[in-house]
Amino acid sequence: METKTISDYRNTSYKQFDFTINDKKIKFIKDFKLDYPKAWKIYDYINKKGQLFNLKFRAIYHDKCAYCGISTQVINASNFEVDHFIPKSVLESELRFDKRDIHGINNLVNSCQMCNRGKLDFLCDIENLETLHPDNNRLPLIFNRKSDFSIVINKEYENNNIIKDFYNKLKLNNQLRRLDYLLMEMKDFCERHEGAPIINEIQKLILKIESKRRRNY
Ligand SMILES: [Zn+2]
Repeated sequence: METKTISDYRNTSYKQFDFTINDKKIKFIKDFKLDYPKAWKIYDYINKKGQLFNLKFRAIYHDKCAYCGISTQVINASNFEVDHFIPKSVLESELRFDKRDIHGINNLVNSCQMCNRGKLDFLCDIENLETLHPDNNRLPLIFNRKSDFSIVINKEYENNNIIKDFYNKLKLNNQLRRLDYLLMEMKDFCERHEGAPIINEIQKLILKIESKRRRNY
């Protein structure tokens, strides 16, 4: 049977990363427990920017935001945050969630500031939560990258109000998303064609775009 490769809107044309988690988080926890056998609030350790387990955690997501795909090629590593997929505010609500689950590895996701702060206290029913959790790897079925580099909701989901709300909260339609994707495309192109005479000129263009982008922030 022919298997269809799903294009992932978070990847560029030149570099494809596999966002399936498989046993990556299990291995991470095994390593983590060797150093911190009694720790349960994993978040506190992973969230320390630049520390070993922060770097290892980000590597699970290929140093990309699990929601929009922006990478450390475009924004500084300090602009990445550890997102609680189910927001930690549920612990102060009537809802019955275990703090060990909320601060545990399976609820933590590598995210850029724009996605994390936009998402904020987003919460919905379990079925949609499972669909939207990046680790279940269904996001490439829900969102798509158009040829103008914008991120759109796929037809099958465009009437799903919860997914629309999620999309709007994360500002996946923000114009900066397109500019950032252009920069990633250009950088991956340069990497692939390293040494070619035209690359110096493209790199000058990248610098110009980057200086304009900084003014946008
Ligand atoms: Zn993002």
